[in-house]
Amino acid sequence: MKDNSEKFTVRFRGTRGSYPSPKINFLKFGGNTACVEVNCGNQLIILDSGTGIIDVGLDVLKNAIIQGKKVPHHATILLSHIHQDHIQGLQFYKPLFEPTSTINLFGLNTNDEKLEDTLRTILFDKVFPLGLEEIRSNFTIKNLNEDDVIVISQDSSTKVYDSLNYNDLKFKNDDIVITAYKTQAHPKNGCLCIKIKYNSKTLIYATDKESYIGADKKFIQFAYGADCLIHDAQYTYQDYINPIQPKQGFGHSTFEMAIENYKLSKAKRLFFFHYDPEYDDEKLSMLEKEFANIEENIYFAKENYEIEL
Ligand SMILES: [Zn+2]
Ligand SMILES: [Zn+2]
Repeated sequence: MKDNSEKFTVRFRGTRGSYPSPKINFLKFGGNTACVEVNCGNQLIILDSGTGIIDVGLDVLKNAIIQGKKVPHHATILLSHIHQDHIQGLQFYKPLFEPTSTINLFGLNTNDEKLEDTLRTILFDKVFPLGLEEIRSNFTIKNLNEDDVIVISQDSSTKVYDSLNYNDLKFKNDDIVITAYKTQAHPKNGCLCIKIKYNSKTLIYATDKESYIGADKKFIQFAYGADCLIHDAQYTYQDYINPIQPKQGFGHSTFEMAIENYKLSKAKRLFFFHYDPEYDDEKLSMLEKEFANIEENIYFAKENYEIEL
C-alpha cells in the first residue's frame, strides 16, 4: 500500500464552465466553476481558481490545526487563463490571508500587462475589500510561458526552468514536473493546457479548449499516453452546430471532440469537464449513460469526486 507521501490524487472541486449553477437540480455534477485539487505526495497543486477553490481553502484551514497549532501551508495555483470562471474564487481562498501560508501562482501574462497587475485590477483593489498588497501570506504571482518547466520538490522548493535545457535537468524521483501547452483561440491571449508528472504518472488538464475536426495534432503529442486526461466538454454536438445559436468558435469542445483527443492520445482515462451551466443533472445523466457505452474509461467529472492515479 502507498503511504501518503507517494499518492497522486485528483479531486474535482468545480466542474462547471462559464458561471456557477448553484441549483438543486445541478448538484450531482456540481455547481461550482473550474477548480481541480491535485495532491502529489506532500504537495498541493490547484488547477484554476473558480468558485471550487473556496472549499479547498476551508479544508486546508480545517486540516492545518494540529494539536492546537497552525502548520505552515504550501500550495501552487496554476491558472489556465483569466476568464472569470477560472479566477472568481481566488480572493476567497482563505489560506491567502494566513501568514503561515506560502502560495505560488502561475499563469499567462497578457500581451500588454503582467499577470500580477491584471489580477490586482480585476480581483482586488476596487472590487474587493482588500488590496493585493494586504494579503498576509507569502504570495507570489508569476508568468508561465509555454516553454517553462516548473519543478516542485517535496520540501516545497519550486524552480522554473527553460524547457530547452529540460533534458539536462536532474530530477529527484519524487519531484513534480509541470509543463504547459498553449492553445491559441481562447481567449485571444491563449489558454494553458497543463501536464503534471509525478511518480511515473501523468495528468493532463485541458480546459477551455476547442479542438478541431480531425483532432488537434500538437495537443495529442503533448497529452500522449497520459494516465488521466481532463478535457473540456461544454457542448453537445447538436448545440455546437445549432444553426440558430451556433457555439463554434466559442473556445469549447463537444463531448465528441474530447473523445477524439482521448483516443488519439492513447490516454488511459478521460474525464469530461467544464459543463455548460444550462445542462442540469437530468441532461448530463442522460449523456453519461450514452457515452459510457461508447468507449471504455470515459467518465463525467463530478464535484468532490476523487481519483488516484
Ligand atoms: Zn471556462
Ligand atoms: Zn475561458
